[in-house]
Amino acid sequence: MACRMNAKHGYLIDMDGVVYRGGRLIPGAAAFVNRLVENEIPFLFLTNNSQRTRRDIATRLERLGIRISEENVYTCADATASYLARQSPGGTAFVIGEGGLLTALHDHGFSIVDRDPDFVVVGECRTFNAEVMEQALNMLVNGAKFIATNLDPNCPTSSGTRPGCGALVSMLESASGRTAFSVGKPSPVMMRSARKELMLAASQTIMIGDTMSTDILGGHQLGYYTVLVLTGTTSKEDLPQFSYQPDEVVSSIASINDERLAEQALSRDLSLSFESELSAV
Ligand SMILES: [Mg+2]
Repeated sequence: MACRMNAKHGYLIDMDGVVYRGGRLIPGAAAFVNRLVENEIPFLFLTNNSQRTRRDIATRLERLGIRISEENVYTCADATASYLARQSPGGTAFVIGEGGLLTALHDHGFSIVDRDPDFVVVGECRTFNAEVMEQALNMLVNGAKFIATNLDPNCPTSSGTRPGCGALVSMLESASGRTAFSVGKPSPVMMRSARKELMLAASQTIMIGDTMSTDILGGHQLGYYTVLVLTGTTSKEDLPQFSYQPDEVVSSIASINDERLAEQALSRDLSLSFESELSAV
């Protein structure tokens, strides 16, 4: 793979709980992202929400005060569509999901059908009903392949919590006896394809997230340098229960110093390769 010639490092940045929370920008987030843009440090916003397209998300961030382009956004809908296009070019899908997922599948050469699909694809959806669940179930029973954009059980909203993609997937898994293959965080499929979009090596990639079971687990498994921010779902008190730990824990994205972090991440990688050389002797 061709890596960027100039970039020494780059970032995968989760959105909800890292740059905004409940529709409000987290203080310091815009300044951090602006510094990345000014210093031409590659980064991608990484989200397990498949409802919106890259452009929708870029516009939403712009309204919150973060000016980026749609090339700086990577969703689990994009990851799912590019994965399916490699599995079955020009294939067909029955979709329980919204605009972001439908657009991504179309952009990758898929047709959306309502009978005999190659794949049943489930993403975030607030408009599903018993009828579409029954249709999907019958397709699964008849042999369609079962894909989930992600398995997040629920999503925070400004008024509380709503069932997430993972909850819809569980219903279909229970009814069909089939298990979905999930593409979104922490799946290595999305974590790796996002890193490839950045055109960086694993050792140059820093993952910033607020959720241990998706952002940090996904980054940890692929050998990225992981930074947990405490402005979202995982609190400091939750940390001891996890068998894997982030490389760093910071109070918020505002306390991240890019230069120091890059040095830390890259020096960790040098010490790792030194250790592996020693063990090879
Ligand atoms: Mg989050």
